[in-house]
Amino acid sequence: MKQLALLGATGSIGDSVCAIVRKHPERFGFFAMSAHSNWQKALQLAIEFKPRHLIITEHQAHQALQTESLPSGTQLHWGGDVLNGVVAEPEVDLVVAAIVGSAGMASVMAAVAAGKTLLLANKESIVSAGALVMPLAKEKGAQIIPLDSEHNAVFQCLPDGYQTGHRPKQVKHITLTASGGPFWSKPMTEFASITPGQAVAHPKWDMGAKISVDSATLMNKGLEVIEAHWLFDLGEQDIDVVVHPQSTIHSLVHYVDGSVLAQLGSPDMQIPISYGLGLRDRLENEGAFLDLLALSRLDFHEPDTEKFPCLRLAREAIQAGGTLPAVLNAANEVSVAAFLEGQMGFMEIPSVNESLMMQYGAVPVTSLEQLQALDAEVRAAAQKLIGKKN
Ligand code: NAD
Ligand code: MG
Repeated sequence: MKQLALLGATGSIGDSVCAIVRKHPERFGFFAMSAHSNWQKALQLAIEFKPRHLIITEHQAHQALQTESLPSGTQLHWGGDVLNGVVAEPEVDLVVAAIVGSAGMASVMAAVAAGKTLLLANKESIVSAGALVMPLAKEKGAQIIPLDSEHNAVFQCLPDGYQTGHRPKQVKHITLTASGGPFWSKPMTEFASITPGQAVAHPKWDMGAKISVDSATLMNKGLEVIEAHWLFDLGEQDIDVVVHPQSTIHSLVHYVDGSVLAQLGSPDMQIPISYGLGLRDRLENEGAFLDLLALSRLDFHEPDTEKFPCLRLAREAIQAGGTLPAVLNAANEVSVAAFLEGQMGFMEIPSVNESLMMQYGAVPVTSLEQLQALDAEVRAAAQKLIGKKN
């Protein structure tokens, strides 16, 4: 029985993890779960799964939950420091990083420092802190298994003993597929009137609000190029992106002999997550499995970086290296939140992100504390810039 620490249990990835655990109660149990503000859902999960530890990271939510009745075996805690301690506990077999944003950075570092097997959904952590996380994982023998569907697909197409953080042998390049999001075919002249409601309505995947907006701007694919750069030790030029509206091929690996391996499946996060939880052993899933005849065709297009500049920004951030990906990520988290709150338009997301990249530039990454301070600084500067525009 594998004991899990599920960080970000109340989100969309958290839902998929819980759904898999529900189907395989003999294989998985929860040592710990974390949630930020949705204490009601955290309470429900605690009642159902009885984790040993429940960590609430937002203060008010912790206060509210304190008065409710938790199962007798579940200890309630508050705050990020406890979270970082709990992931390192010897009872934890697998840490699932499903927090959204760079808020997950410290817990990802803590899991890797403890040599844990890390199932990584929280791409922002690796985007911002890849320069620290990957060398530390090698040093501590921590295995990182990607849950992001594209990276999980690449991982599935690499040989069995392959460990992330190493450049895969005999691989020429990889191709990440992108659905294109909801505005792929929308004329750019209509972009100014895009509403948050339209942006979060993803045509293929059901996900949290932030990543849905990232998919609509193609920032998500940009973050994924950076994520792939760290996970597979590939240069930016070795990571292609194609728009594939059916979201059936999740990514491809091109080998030196001309062979191309791809992973296909219906767009359901339970498929990549179960491959991670099973540590490459395949767990039985239910659901709408792929029907090739119903699908009938697969289309591919070149991404349009004039309509979607965020993909270009990500490539520039890798080329400059150092702290620039962390700057881009922090700026983007603030611009997406501002767009969702109706403070600015859809088209301003890339321009705010680019302004902050130009303002901050790149310096070498030295420590987690440096990245956390930079993250806070860029967020404040982005907020100021957005305030001025209004
Ligand atoms: P979500 O918004 O649905 O859930 C986010 C989770 O993080 C919640 O449990 C929330 O309590 C927690 N959280 C939020 N802010 C926090 C903070 N400041 N400190 C600690 N915890 C906090 O997001 P999601 O869609 O589940 O995505 C989670 C991560 O997985 C993201 O990094 C996303 O890019 C990645 N991802 C998601 C999908 C998907 O299908 N949803 C696919 C690939 C990758
Ligand atoms: Mg993805």
